[in-house]
Amino acid sequence: MNPSQPAAFRMENVAKAYGGVPALCGVSLSIQNGEFVGLLGPNGAGKSTLFQIASGLFAPDSGTVDLFGLNYRSNSAEILGKLGIVFQARSLDADISVRANLKFFGGLFGLFGQRLKERILVVSEMMDIVPLLDKPVRSLSGGNQRRAEIARALLPEPQILLLDEPTAGLDATSRRNLVTHIHEIVARTGLSVLWATHLLEEVEGADRIVLLIKGEVKAEGTPAALMQMAQAADLTEAYITLTAAKAP
Ligand code: ADP
Repeated sequence: MNPSQPAAFRMENVAKAYGGVPALCGVSLSIQNGEFVGLLGPNGAGKSTLFQIASGLFAPDSGTVDLFGLNYRSNSAEILGKLGIVFQARSLDADISVRANLKFFGGLFGLFGQRLKERILVVSEMMDIVPLLDKPVRSLSGGNQRRAEIARALLPEPQILLLDEPTAGLDATSRRNLVTHIHEIVARTGLSVLWATHLLEEVEGADRIVLLIKGEVKAEGTPAALMQMAQAADLTEAYITLTAAKAP
């Protein structure tokens, strides 16, 4: 992490309401280069809304969002080139092979020919799915399907990877393996990650946790800092204390 560089991602004082009902109420959040940030909160906290705004899917009602200092409103094409996005819903065609899916999405990202072949191999190696490339997606385990989804998101060499509840529907072992795997990629490549989840154990190893409750950041810091803040012996206790605490 280099503090003199602009944050990989920054949102300041972002608000968003649906039909007058607030989902995000003045949220500020940043991700530094090479940082793994866990966005933790119960269902309804506003994680998906924040995630969709970070993905550029829609603009906030107020507040600012930028990526490497680029404003979302004026640089949307450049921003999309730097973002890898893994939505909750599956995006791969289950009936065709992983390779055919990666070719299709690579084409959408403007990759073709030798460069596309190379990228497919690189992201498949990164996600440990090379032996599965020619199998239909539907024949893969849930965990490997998620790996293929992440490989798809990594195709255009994003600098920041956004994942919205990427372990939904996976068993405990696959969940843990996936989290560990992404940490290894972060350590090796310097990728920045925003990992949204309601599961505490998935963010225990995060560089920083942002705790989102009812559309507000209730606390943020390293896991150790959150434990200290809550005067708790472990992260579970800290989470319970901090989520129960009244807003200042
Ligand atoms: P999370 O991902 O943490 O579960 P969401 O961002 O999905 O949180 O939801 C935050 C709040 O906004 C919830 O009260 C939810 O019901 C509401 N909400 C989310 N999306 C919509 C939508 N498209 N229309 C109306 N309300 C929505």
